[in-house]
Amino acid sequence: MSDNEIIICSFCSKNKQDTNVLIAGSSAHICDVCIQQAYEIVKEDQATLSTFSEEVQLLKPKEIKRHLDDFVIGQESAKKVISVAVYNHYKRILQTDTNEVDIEKTNIIMAGRTGTGKTLIARSIAKLLKVPFCIADATVLTEAGYVGEDVESILTRLLQAADYDVDRAKKGIIFIDEIDKVARKSDNPSITRDVSGEGVQQAMLKLLEGTIVNVPPQGGRKHPDQKMIALDTKDILFISGGAFDGIEQHISSRINTRSIGFKSEKDSIIDKDNILEFISAQDLKTFGLIPELIGRMPVVTYLEPLDHIALKRILVEPKNALITQYKKLFEIDGIELTFDRKAIDIIVKQAVELKLGARGLRSVCEAVMLDAMFEFPSDKSKTKLIITQEYVNNQLGKISLNNLKAA
Ligand code: ADP
Repeated sequence: MSDNEIIICSFCSKNKQDTNVLIAGSSAHICDVCIQQAYEIVKEDQATLSTFSEEVQLLKPKEIKRHLDDFVIGQESAKKVISVAVYNHYKRILQTDTNEVDIEKTNIIMAGRTGTGKTLIARSIAKLLKVPFCIADATVLTEAGYVGEDVESILTRLLQAADYDVDRAKKGIIFIDEIDKVARKSDNPSITRDVSGEGVQQAMLKLLEGTIVNVPPQGGRKHPDQKMIALDTKDILFISGGAFDGIEQHISSRINTRSIGFKSEKDSIIDKDNILEFISAQDLKTFGLIPELIGRMPVVTYLEPLDHIALKRILVEPKNALITQYKKLFEIDGIELTFDRKAIDIIVKQAVELKLGARGLRSVCEAVMLDAMFEFPSDKSKTKLIITQEYVNNQLGKISLNNLKAA
């Protein structure tokens, strides 16, 4: 380039002296103003792109299940049933032809003991589909007007999870935990409505059916001056979970009654420990859920109790398995952590005894690792820690099973 050649911005043709900064490329120049404008255009484009990707991605049931497999060990039946229900649910939402057949909503009920993966499945699905997700505990809900949380407060939480983007919240997933705890106490429809039971079920019904609810954005009691946000619940997917303690009796008596007269192979194949796999809407009704509510949650599935083998897999296999998490924690302090095979077996055995499902693993691991997590970071000489059978026994010897349960 000759000395007297005029250098200009290749985009707006401004002279170099009229710009603050002029950046040279291999055969072109760009001024600060054009850079700024180009940046704004790119930013806008990216925003449009991300709204697209934030829209629900319709994955096929097999893809949903494959994703769940990465995080949830076992529970094959529940994962399959839920993958199909979720696929159908979002297919229904994305259906554009309104004259077509009206596909009904597929809210889901999951029955299974505590710590078997009910919340994990619901949360993993929401994460996969990139839809807002929130958990509501049915036990703290009351009918509107009673002390406690109104059923509508669930929607406030979903709105918050969606950063107050109503369109996103409308396609979210709400996990209602401990739905079994709002069961009617007796199978008899009572004369006096009970605050915590049937009344709450009735209030929930409205949400599940699909209705426009005026939601207080900050939650809490409705305040006359508060500006409400209208939220339509018709496309929200409700997944509810509960342990349904004692439902096994209802299931087995139903199965037995039915099989009278043709004493069958069925009796011999029923696994008494796993009777939950035969759970049906009828059993939920006998347990104390009102038929209208059951009708709004047509997909019923179950989670198996986690045995020694399953718990062991949970401890080491998933992407964010506990063992991997502890290794990472120590690695940050420059310490290489390993677990002996036998040590893992003892941790699992102890967790099985706790009867808290996979939750027990966390309590046991915390008890085993606490001293090391306290001591090691301050000791520069330590670069390795091997957790052996003796180490685990020693650590567990210091505490009682009851303490672990409370952890
Ligand atoms: P609940 O059935 O009571 O809702 P959660 O889903 O909350 O149980 O599980 C408690 C913890 O145990 C979760 O954080 C999860 O890491 C682990 N967990 C439970 N079940 C499984 C499973 N089947 N596979 C992998 N991890 C599990």
